[in-house]
Amino acid sequence: MPFADIMGHDRIIEVLRRSLRNGKTAHSYLFEGVPGSGRKKTAMMLIQALFCKALTDDACGDCHSCRKIVSGNHPDIHHIVPLPDKRDISIDQLRELQHILSLRPYEAPRKACIIDPAERMSVNAANSLLKTLEEPPGNALIVLLTENAGMLLSTVRSRCQLIRFAPLSPEHVITVLERSGMPPETATLIAPMSGGSLQRALELDNESLVVRREAVLSRVSQLSNNRIATIFDAAEELSGNRDATLELLDMLLSFFRDAVHLGAGNREIVNRSVRRAIESIAAQRSFPRNLEILEQINATKRDVQRNANSKLALDNLFMAMAGNR
Ligand SMILES: [Zn+2]
Repeated sequence: MPFADIMGHDRIIEVLRRSLRNGKTAHSYLFEGVPGSGRKKTAMMLIQALFCKALTDDACGDCHSCRKIVSGNHPDIHHIVPLPDKRDISIDQLRELQHILSLRPYEAPRKACIIDPAERMSVNAANSLLKTLEEPPGNALIVLLTENAGMLLSTVRSRCQLIRFAPLSPEHVITVLERSGMPPETATLIAPMSGGSLQRALELDNESLVVRREAVLSRVSQLSNNRIATIFDAAEELSGNRDATLELLDMLLSFFRDAVHLGAGNREIVNRSVRRAIESIAAQRSFPRNLEILEQINATKRDVQRNANSKLALDNLFMAMAGNR
């Protein structure tokens, strides 16, 4: 059954299926989570189940309606995204949506729409949507997708049922990547860097990632306070724009998580194909020190996310990593 295709969100699926069984789905949902964590797939599955001729708490996957949705051309589902070259979702787009929702559905029992990303609605646009969210015309279903519900007007939030999607675990990412035909070794390499996002995982370029991982491991193993140049050279070589730096920090997090696992006597690590390098990272410092560094990498990541200078942030982090062992 189609809901079973969604990985890693069992509790959310259970809640949605219960409301389907009881005929008590909300008019408007707000799905919060990182892009690629399964929000959109779950939204589509909810719509599919609502439209399905089988009228159960799941979609049959086989009826006319289910087939049309899977093929991506059901006339009663509307996707609202920023227009090409535009940053925001405009008030005109939402006015048009409201007009469309007020029309009789072509074949489904009601219309449905997904607004993605909802935080890109301008304030005016969001304000124009309030009444629709509260009482969608024609009993339409509206699902807003957002990375961060806090970025939406509280008046929008309060009119929707909020459902939070946790990032996928590396194990779930690996499973989905392998199912899509990726070799296990590649999936295992990419998953820890994906931040729980399948979208991010698929964007990561495998080959350059392997090269970059070697470069990072080599720089990290050479860090030394006695040779201060190793610190600044590493920061110079490895820092890039904000996204590249965040990717580097995710990689470091994954290495040091593994090092801490090894230090705790746990043989199961994520970066299996570079086990020897991880073992040497684990052995370079004491267990408590590796734990501290893990926390420092997390703190650096938060700083860079808040737009701290990448090079300076890495200088500081690498100095800490080179310090008292
Ligand atoms: Zn069906």
